[in-house]
Amino acid sequence: MENHYNITIIGAGTGGIMLAAQLNAKHPSIKVGIIDPAEFHYYQPAWTLVGAGTYDYEKTKRPMKAIVPKKSTWIKDAVTKIDAKNNQLATATSGMITYDYLVVAPGLTYNFDLVPGLKEAFDDPNGMAGSVYTDAKKVWKDIQKFKGGVALFTQPNTPIKCGGAPQKVMYLAEAAFKKHEVRDKSKVVFATNGGVIFGVQQIKETLMKVVDRKNIQIKFGHQLVKIDSQEKIAWYKLGDNFSEHNERVGVQTQEKDGLIGIKYDFLHTAPPSVAPKFVQESDLVNEAGWLDVDKHTLKSNKYENVFGLGDVAGLPTAKTGAAIRKQVPVIVDHIVKAMSGEKTSNKKYNGYSSCPLVTDYGKMVLAEFDYNNNFIPDPKLKRMLVFNSEKEHWRLWMFKKYALPYLYWNKMMKGEDI
Ligand SMILES: Cc1cc2nc3c(=O)[nH]c(=O)nc-3n(C[C@H](O)[C@H](O)[C@H](O)COP(=O)(O)OP(=O)(O)OC[C@H]3O[C@@H](n4cnc5c(N)ncnc54)[C@H](O)[C@@H]3O)c2cc1C
Repeated sequence: MENHYNITIIGAGTGGIMLAAQLNAKHPSIKVGIIDPAEFHYYQPAWTLVGAGTYDYEKTKRPMKAIVPKKSTWIKDAVTKIDAKNNQLATATSGMITYDYLVVAPGLTYNFDLVPGLKEAFDDPNGMAGSVYTDAKKVWKDIQKFKGGVALFTQPNTPIKCGGAPQKVMYLAEAAFKKHEVRDKSKVVFATNGGVIFGVQQIKETLMKVVDRKNIQIKFGHQLVKIDSQEKIAWYKLGDNFSEHNERVGVQTQEKDGLIGIKYDFLHTAPPSVAPKFVQESDLVNEAGWLDVDKHTLKSNKYENVFGLGDVAGLPTAKTGAAIRKQVPVIVDHIVKAMSGEKTSNKKYNGYSSCPLVTDYGKMVLAEFDYNNNFIPDPKLKRMLVFNSEKEHWRLWMFKKYALPYLYWNKMMKGEDI
């Protein structure tokens, strides 16, 4: 096995594969090495639909060997240390790998210690607590088992992947409760540390109508502190964003030691999320432990030949595959120009991210935005979808359920810059 590459990529997830595939397609002479220990690559955006019983989990999974582009070298191993000063990486079993340019794209990982009791709640087969982030099939089983009571949807105070996913699950679960004839025996509540349902004005307006139509109570400014898995209570500290919407739904709370408790019969949350340990232990991170990169060039603020891509990057925008789609061409241009000695690239990433918010079986809203939370529908998508994507529409649902997975596996993973 060779141990030096022009470009070494850590992680063969959405970002790593999209980048390797574009480099191979457009610059075949560049030697690309991609390091990842995983046997499988997942299309994670469909896990929300799996959790709502409307997508087959097996279709979200492909063997890594079928996904890594043929012209790249896959090093099936885990990086244990980044030594950016010496342009090298330590791996678990393959020794040192050296590089001219490094792209760090190992995604994020979950730290359950940040919410004591959450792991116990998830691990209890009768706990009625789970997450589409970790086990979407169990979420669907729990939705089917739910016989009424309080269905609590929440999220941690850390950044998470696809910030809208905890809401999407809620909207679909609420519809499923109706189908299962338990909706009139249940109260649906969303508790979040945020102060708005969504940061983009146009999308917020649509979603608040959905929340009212579905009679969902919202508790803003609720910082998840711990879970009592025995008593099935989620405990919160109240933050500056505290306010209530649809209080008339009447979800009861209790107070103890300065915390507010919500007793649940069903719980869904995204897990507390952090950068992988070997990244946090490197000299490449910001104070919060995420990869410290320039928000427009995605280049490390410390090393000229290191870039950050995807969920691991400390960028003030939503962590999504859609964001990665716009980040990859920027990184390719910067590295290729630097390698060829041409003048520096002036390509900039504007913080584009998008969130396909499914609001019912058969309905969706597409939020597309930049660093300033401006609503910026992608002109290509607009042409394909024809109408205003900030409004609910069945065509957007079809796009999420059928077109996006197709484009992911057949275009984005194959190096097409779509
Ligand atoms: C429930 C859910 C819903 C979502 N919905 C959407 C959506 O609707 N739209 C959207 O655009 N995005 C959505 N996302 C987010 C999207 O899936 C992620 O933002 C995207 O996959 C991140 O890509 P990544 O390459 O940064 O990380 P990942 O795709 O997670 O890949 C990281 C890779 O790095 C590897 N790795 C980890 N540690 C090491 C190591 N030490 N050495 C080597 N390799 C390592 C892992 O094995 C993995 O293969 C959703 C995610 C979830 C979980």
